[in-house]
Amino acid sequence: MDAKAETKPRPQQKPGDVIDGLMFPFAEFPAAGETIEVADGIFWVSTPVPFVGLKQVNLWLLRDGDGWTMVDCSYGGTTQRELIETVWAKLLGGRPVKQLIVTHFHPDHAGGSGWIAEKWGLRPRMSHGEWLTANLAVMNKNTDHVESRGVFYRRHGLDEARVQRFLTGVVLYSDGVTLPKSHKRLRSGDLVPIGQDKWRVIIGEGHSPEHVSLYCAERKILIAGDQILPSITTNVSTWHVEPEFDAVGAFLNTCKTFLDVLHADTLILPSHRKPFRNVQHRLRQLALHHAHRLNVVLDAVGQEARAGELIDVMFTPGLDGHQIGFAMGEAIGHLNHLVALGHLEMVETKSQVSYRRISAKEKKVEPHFA
Ligand SMILES: [Zn+2]
Repeated sequence: MDAKAETKPRPQQKPGDVIDGLMFPFAEFPAAGETIEVADGIFWVSTPVPFVGLKQVNLWLLRDGDGWTMVDCSYGGTTQRELIETVWAKLLGGRPVKQLIVTHFHPDHAGGSGWIAEKWGLRPRMSHGEWLTANLAVMNKNTDHVESRGVFYRRHGLDEARVQRFLTGVVLYSDGVTLPKSHKRLRSGDLVPIGQDKWRVIIGEGHSPEHVSLYCAERKILIAGDQILPSITTNVSTWHVEPEFDAVGAFLNTCKTFLDVLHADTLILPSHRKPFRNVQHRLRQLALHHAHRLNVVLDAVGQEARAGELIDVMFTPGLDGHQIGFAMGEAIGHLNHLVALGHLEMVETKSQVSYRRISAKEKKVEPHFA
């Protein structure tokens, strides 16, 4: 799940349009129940997501010998199931889905995993970190223990009115997810054969615990998941179960890994919005974007501040209950990164957490990489 739009798309996009330095080979999304072949044997599916601002999520179907590999499952709703069944009926040509890969545990990606697994009699492949987190969240525990999240945001200075808006407005993980009974583990560096190709697992952090992206170096294609998105930025949040986690640092380290590993001409297949090229430019944009936001936060902290006091500085007002949770997670993630960089210290008492400036007032945050 992801945050705020950075740019407004132009009304009439043409194939090959360059927007903000990124080239989009496809002007339109696939229509409901339809696919677009984005590369030989790789088909793009778009399904709706019931979260404000996010709109849709992409799934990928890849020809795989005598069957198909599917990457991601969509949100687990009836509309999404019907769309996927329509796609299967039109595209698969009577051949089975024999492999399902789940990039990460979030409901727009793992939501339909239990249903798809049962339908095709398969065991989904995902990282162990995502599997465990999904199972805790579906029981309304861990990252989805709503009361603990409310306590956490209160400790971090969120005003009571917004704590209540969060508690009453947050969408439960379990609402949109059915999980399979078991999984087959994916690890960093694994080579996953799909048809004639080998796809290397790249593990990312910052958005989810052990996010899987798949890179085919020979074909210069990355199935990015939520780790690299165009037009919107990936939500990078710290959660109550790991309150000192430097989510922003972890995310930027992953961006640097991609900069080092990916060929400059790689076609990026993101989970949200449209496929694009010029990934190195996008990664540098992300490093600049977070440096800018870190400096905004640092200025707003002054001598000392709490995360709840900063979300009006970081986000446009009027967040709904669900968005407040992500906004707080992002604010705390940025503050923890400023601690890691030596600009702030975390001051924690029994009832509250604040952040105090320890670096000289004129010190600024530089981009993580250039
Ligand atoms: Zn997502």
